[in-house]
Amino acid sequence: MMAQYLALKCEAGDCLLFYRMGDFFELFFDDARHASAVLDIALTSRGDHDGAPIPMCGVPVHSAEGYLARLIRAGCRVAIAEQVESPEEAKRRGGSKALVARAIVRFVTAGTLTEEALLEPRRANVLAAVCDLRGMCGLAACDISTGRMDLEECAADGLGAALARLGASELVAPLEWPDAPAEAIGRARHDFASEEGEARLKAAHGVATLDGFGQFTRPMLAAAGGLLAYLDHVGRGRLPLLLPPVARATDEVMAMDAATRASLEILEGQSGGRSGSLLAAVDRCVTGAGARQLAEDLAAPLAMRGEIEARLVLVQWLHDDPLLRGDLRALFRALPDIGRALGRIVAGRGSPRDLGQLRDGLVEARRAHDVLHGMADKPALLEALVPPLAGHGALTDHLSRALVQTPPTERSQGGFIAEGYDAALDELRQVSGNARRAIAALEAKYRSETGIAALKIRHNGVLGYFIEVPSRHADALMAADSGFTHRQTMAGAVRFNSLSLHEEASRIAEAGGHALAAEEAHFEDLVGEVVAAKARIAATAAALARLDVAAGQAERAAESGWCRPEIVAAPCLEIEAGRHPVVEAALAAPENGRGGERFVANDCRLGPDDRLWLIGGPNMGGKSTFLRQNALIVLLAQAGGFVPAARARIGLVDRLFSRVGAADNLARGRSTFMVEMVETAAILAQATESSFVILDEVGRGTSTYDGLALAWAVSEAIHETNRCRCLFATHYHELTRLAETCPALSLHHVRAKEWKGELVLLHEVAEGGADRSYGLAVAKLAGVPRGVLDRAKEVLGRLEKGRAETGGIVAGLGELPLFAAAAQAEEVHRDTMRERLQGLDIDALSPREALELLYRLKRDAAD
Ligand code: ADP
Repeated sequence: MMAQYLALKCEAGDCLLFYRMGDFFELFFDDARHASAVLDIALTSRGDHDGAPIPMCGVPVHSAEGYLARLIRAGCRVAIAEQVESPEEAKRRGGSKALVARAIVRFVTAGTLTEEALLEPRRANVLAAVCDLRGMCGLAACDISTGRMDLEECAADGLGAALARLGASELVAPLEWPDAPAEAIGRARHDFASEEGEARLKAAHGVATLDGFGQFTRPMLAAAGGLLAYLDHVGRGRLPLLLPPVARATDEVMAMDAATRASLEILEGQSGGRSGSLLAAVDRCVTGAGARQLAEDLAAPLAMRGEIEARLVLVQWLHDDPLLRGDLRALFRALPDIGRALGRIVAGRGSPRDLGQLRDGLVEARRAHDVLHGMADKPALLEALVPPLAGHGALTDHLSRALVQTPPTERSQGGFIAEGYDAALDELRQVSGNARRAIAALEAKYRSETGIAALKIRHNGVLGYFIEVPSRHADALMAADSGFTHRQTMAGAVRFNSLSLHEEASRIAEAGGHALAAEEAHFEDLVGEVVAAKARIAATAAALARLDVAAGQAERAAESGWCRPEIVAAPCLEIEAGRHPVVEAALAAPENGRGGERFVANDCRLGPDDRLWLIGGPNMGGKSTFLRQNALIVLLAQAGGFVPAARARIGLVDRLFSRVGAADNLARGRSTFMVEMVETAAILAQATESSFVILDEVGRGTSTYDGLALAWAVSEAIHETNRCRCLFATHYHELTRLAETCPALSLHHVRAKEWKGELVLLHEVAEGGADRSYGLAVAKLAGVPRGVLDRAKEVLGRLEKGRAETGGIVAGLGELPLFAAAAQAEEVHRDTMRERLQGLDIDALSPREALELLYRLKRDAAD
């Protein structure tokens, strides 16, 4: 047995091997140690190997799903080795000692789940493959629970942002690729050959050319190859639901890197869960599929006005018609998750219940179609979404006729095909029904014949049907001519058989077996029909999800008086009475003990002549909140939703950056300042005139002089070189002097006042620099003891006196040439160009690649 185990383990590689033994999956050696620790189950041992006992642990097959879920969550991957023949077959094959043959039937990994119990309903589950090809990166991402597949290509420096956007739960990359993301699982390089990818895609979709799906570049195809090869490996040759791939251009979406995503808490709050996130504050979807679509929209806001407008028009339409919106949402509430049911069916893991869900979902979709179809003046996006909601009439009719009202999840017991669908099946059921009644009649007959009132006819898995009497009555039945044959003696009872019982039982068994086979055949037929319609069903699911998102956005907007943003090309950001959706909701929540405090709305007005706002004011004054609310408003708008403001006019943003200066936090390690600077460097390298940047106390993670100097230089560079829209919150008073030299920079502060010796934070953003920092007042508010505060006041007095006498730490900065830093940056820029040219192998380029490269260089030089 160990030899068989070790061979399978070798095949399983670094996955834990679940080795089926009877009713258990057993794990051995290191797998057992690891799994027992993760699952907190007993580690035992069995036999020995090389003289040492073999560590072992096991989980029951019937509850394996729960254990699998925990292992996957803990980052494990699992290979399932099943028995692929029965013990009888093994004996026939190899004699009485023969070992039952086992094989790995499936790998269970985070990115390839389809089971309802293992997936989160409101979250997509993405598997991605990434690879490099001639200096570019290819990315392939799919959600096999619904079949979506996207391919894209990006430059190496854009990979981080693209991966952050995808948020994959599992990632594969070529082995031996030095720049592969650390979390990626290594796969053979030849899987990532572009010709291989093209061939695999064609085979998966049964087409001779991919032209009908779009134009795909070599890096995209290479990544697709890696993804499909991995799916093939994990599914042991059976591919899951895959819809035609969609080519995505990176500039279709607003770029946001991982640091920006984390600091804006878009999909996850600080604690790591949904709570406290933008998504949680916005999500009013009533279906899991809608919630997944919304999360995707927020993770990848659009960068194309036309598409944003199309979504906004639909939200507006639903916003203006609360009755229709209510009706649609009520209808959606009853929708099963047809996308995921379809995913399971195509992956070969579907159940009768999944078929039932498809039936119900498609019928509801048809109702939504009928509600919307006849309406006049529909927005363009809706015109496109309505047709896919219908067109499944034949399939739903068939499913409705074939299936019972609520089909079971387990298909081995049958009972899911409706009466009246198949006359032969009905007859078989009648036969077994009659036989069951006959058995009940037999019981009554035997009772009266023997006079034993306690006589029972019972059934179990081992004996089948049998007659049971208490031991004290057994003698009568033991008599040779009694007509009963003895089968088993138990502690208090004896069991018998009889000819008539045997006949009826055989009838049940035979009819039952035939009935099961008939149901199974119908199941396969129905599955075949669904698989044939998979693309259209997936389109229906996608249209429903998009409608749910739009109705949810409209609902959210109506709930709190949000407005439709105006999206323009000019680089402006004009927001009247903007609010932070998460902070506002937190303040309003009664449970936070602040008694429904009101959020103070604030305006923001950036434009070509006033691009950079420096915002000062006391800690806790509302600076971070103001910065983020503006970034979130941009994000929500470009995701195609309404925004928490009275009015918003937003110049399309190509890249959004958010940076928060690291506080001196020893727990987070010495490198936090380094991280802060690396992230800041990325902004200086990447922000364009169409970008929007928020900087919160950048420079805070180091000494005053260094921090101020860096903040000063970063502000200048943003003002002079990047020329993007930027909000910079800082407590460095000294930066206000920048206003003297930078014409498009203006000073603002969050207002506070001292009233009767107490600090009052007004959370209002006002024009002009902060007059003082209120640090001591904030300390008092925080409960710092009186004595310490008095001493601090004394020290502050001295420092301020010193500053007045010497001109302070910025004395002399006035003479510093402003453009020095900018000029240097330019030099570096040109140098990277030169490096790229020097690194070129011209002979290795095809004429077309050479031309493409030339265009690219020209474009980059113009940046
Ligand atoms: P800062 O960045 O200036 O230190 P924060 O933005 O972190 O300040 O705000 C501190 C707290 O003040 C927030 O947690 C919130 O409770 C409250 N706050 C901030 N802005 C507002 C506002 N506009 N209206 C009401 N309360 C606010």
